Amino acid sequence: MQAVESSPMNRPVKSIVVLTGAGISAESGIATFRASDGLWENHRIEDVATPEGFARNPQLVHHFYNQRRQQLLQDHIRPNAAHMALARLEHEFPGEVLLVTQNVDNLHERAGSRKMLHMHGELLKMRCQESNLVFDLREDIGFDSVCRCCQTIGNLRPHIVWFGEMPFHMPQITRALESCDLFMSIGTSGNVYPASGFYQIARSRHAHTVELNLEQTASSFEEHICGPASEIVPEFVERVLCSVQSP
Ligand code: NAD
Repeated sequence: MQAVESSPMNRPVKSIVVLTGAGISAESGIATFRASDGLWENHRIEDVATPEGFARNPQLVHHFYNQRRQQLLQDHIRPNAAHMALARLEHEFPGEVLLVTQNVDNLHERAGSRKMLHMHGELLKMRCQESNLVFDLREDIGFDSVCRCCQTIGNLRPHIVWFGEMPFHMPQITRALESCDLFMSIGTSGNVYPASGFYQIARSRHAHTVELNLEQTASSFEEHICGPASEIVPEFVERVLCSVQSP
């Protein structure tokens, strides 16, 4: 692997972890998650993003994610320049790049990112609660949908990590954070644990930590770059790639 001799922060960078949140998809037309008033698309978080909410009213929860999925599948919802820039980073950076997203949309994949982990699940997947098998999904599902694996009614749930549940891929994410030299956090409010603590893991191993967001969050990153993701992410990616020295 070729090392980056001179990084934007004057430290050699061989390994990058990027964390993205709802803000990177805002300019693509997908509403962010409004933690401040406790509502997500006019629904209480407790009702649509907890296992208890699903147990209380599965039809409401299915309906909510059916709506989010149908929105994502609309023609005008497309990856923006920030998603594209991260795909470029993965393909052109000579070292390791791991993209970890809290988003449940598929805009990173559509932009061309391949080495990525969906830590909070995916809207375009469903899961059998009996077998834990995961299936692709584009159509609506409901409480009365028949599961493809067990042929039973009522076993399917959205493949989404709800509050109180363990995010996916945590061992792999933690290992990457512990060995990265650069940690970029893009479009996330830092309100949702454990993603909110990633920058501290990276910092404790001496990685340079950068936040790219419309506004500075409370987290103490070493560098804050404020502005719309579609502008500041391509600029920052360019900066990182320009810092790669030719052999
Ligand atoms: P959040 O809504 O709590 O925070 C969004 C952050 O993005 C804010 O800090 C805001 O300042 C910033 N932001 C908004 N527009 C921006 C822009 N154009 N450019 C740069 N930054 C911008 O989101 P979160 O921290 O990701 O946590 C929300 C949770 O809700 C996640 O777990 C996620 O799974 C879920 N969610 C996902 C989607 C999606 O998949 N697109 C959408 C809504 C919610």
